[in-house]
Amino acid sequence: MALTGDLILGGRRAATGDTFTARSSETGEALETEFSQAGPEQVEEACALAAAASEPYGATSPDERAAFLEAIAEEIEALGDPLIERAMAESGLPQARLQGERGRTCGQLRLFAQVVRRGDWLGLRLDTPLPDREPLPRPDLRQRKIALGPVAVFGASNFPLAFSVAGGDTASALAAGCPVVVKGHPAHPGTSEMVGSAIAEAAEKTGMPEGVFSLLQGDAALGATLVSDPRIMAVGFTGSRKGGLAIRDAAAKRDVPIPVYAEMSSVNPVLLMPGALSAKAQELGQQFVASLVLGAGQFCTNPGIILAVEGRDLDSFVEAARDALEQATPQVMLTDAICKAYHDAVEALVGRDDVELIARGPQSDAPNRGQAALFTVPGDLFLQDESLADEMFGAAGIVVRCRDVDQFRKVLEGMEGQLTATLHLTEEDHEAAAALMPLLERRAGRILAGGWPTGVEVSDAMVHGGPFPATTDSRTTSVGTLAIDRFLRPVCYQSLPEALLPPALRDGNPYGAPRLVDGKWER
Ligand code: NAP
Repeated sequence: MALTGDLILGGRRAATGDTFTARSSETGEALETEFSQAGPEQVEEACALAAAASEPYGATSPDERAAFLEAIAEEIEALGDPLIERAMAESGLPQARLQGERGRTCGQLRLFAQVVRRGDWLGLRLDTPLPDREPLPRPDLRQRKIALGPVAVFGASNFPLAFSVAGGDTASALAAGCPVVVKGHPAHPGTSEMVGSAIAEAAEKTGMPEGVFSLLQGDAALGATLVSDPRIMAVGFTGSRKGGLAIRDAAAKRDVPIPVYAEMSSVNPVLLMPGALSAKAQELGQQFVASLVLGAGQFCTNPGIILAVEGRDLDSFVEAARDALEQATPQVMLTDAICKAYHDAVEALVGRDDVELIARGPQSDAPNRGQAALFTVPGDLFLQDESLADEMFGAAGIVVRCRDVDQFRKVLEGMEGQLTATLHLTEEDHEAAAALMPLLERRAGRILAGGWPTGVEVSDAMVHGGPFPATTDSRTTSVGTLAIDRFLRPVCYQSLPEALLPPALRDGNPYGAPRLVDGKWER
């Protein structure tokens, strides 16, 4: 499709006089098309459309809504190679990664279509009336979950497809029955316009209300205006701690509070238990670096901190990691600002006398390339200096040399909330690891045994969330089907005549969804 640079306001395309330029991550050169920058007028129009669509869209049947989600996936696939090419130019991510990301994006839209049809998200509960109960009769009580209303979604820079315009936040909000207004990430406006057009096309083809989706592009001021609009009822965000907190604060100034689901920073500690370290130190060192440098380290689940007991096994691990890191090809980073922030963080550690540099990856003269780096510090220093646990968004990590496994506990106690915590262990480590489990549960949203945290499955049991600052709300997840719950709230219907009940709660269970009737599950 030919890019226009226009905003998408429901069924209408709009150009504003104010524009910004898309840039190639690889060269910094301007890419085709100037993009319209949305202002308060366009926020007003998108929010008014979304509010008008809220009731009719929330009332669509599971089949209608699922068909819309499936149509979005089809329209994205129909964009073909030009979508991948544009995303490559804007993000610097390689073709295979973006093809995989497109598969994941369409897969999660189709998964949410299945979830919508399955109906468990409706949370149907029925307490049948007990007219003869003493001392008081019990009325007919029926509960279901309804959509919160329009949701503002902030596209993430590091997943231009799977966590951007039609990504996990949008898919779960649309599945819940909420219209969505996306604030596209300025690093990939062309990709955003293409995907936004696919959503608009799918909405039209499946007869959805006009304001079910809008795409606004522009700067941070636009984001603040959007979350401040009283018609926005929830926010989904993935990005920096600074950006996430600014959005949380803007939302907190509203007269009516709303939930802000911001996924922010995490350093994802990996615990090398002594048995595992002694059994396969070198293998672990190589695997660690492969995970650390994946996608130039630009994953929220990047393994940034390694905890291990000092000694010869750890030396072997470090040696293998050093060898692997010294061969890691410098990769293009998403934006020059992200690249600069990464290198500033690395240089700050390089400049410290108390932090030892293990190795740096090869350097590149080409612009915007991330140079991998690995550091080590003693556990005692890590305990004293909180700044060592700050996220360095890129391919940099710190190996923390602990005195013993007891020091793992102290280090974890001092750490902030995390998306993941990983254990490498053998059977002989089980007892020590079991003792750490309650602490790991308090610290992280996902605990792994073996493997590396970078891959995130999109499924029913996944949690991509965790205590602050991993997210602003640890009770939920932004990846996986439970994400739909973020955009729902329960309503109880007491003694309503059948004709006034929503279809899901009528006698005969018209949607065939699971229902808890008088304490027993029925279908
Ligand atoms: P970001 O700066 O947080 O931006 C994300 C989105 O939020 C953008 O649309 C941005 O708009 C908007 N935004 C930022 N500050 C805002 C504010 N004060 N008010 C309203 N909206 C605001 O993230 P980024 O551009 O992707 O990357 C910057 C840094 O974020 C990275 O260096 C990295 O440290 C971190 N990051 C972390 C993760 C993670 O998963 N943990 C993922 C991506 C990035 P504008 O760009 O127009 O300002």
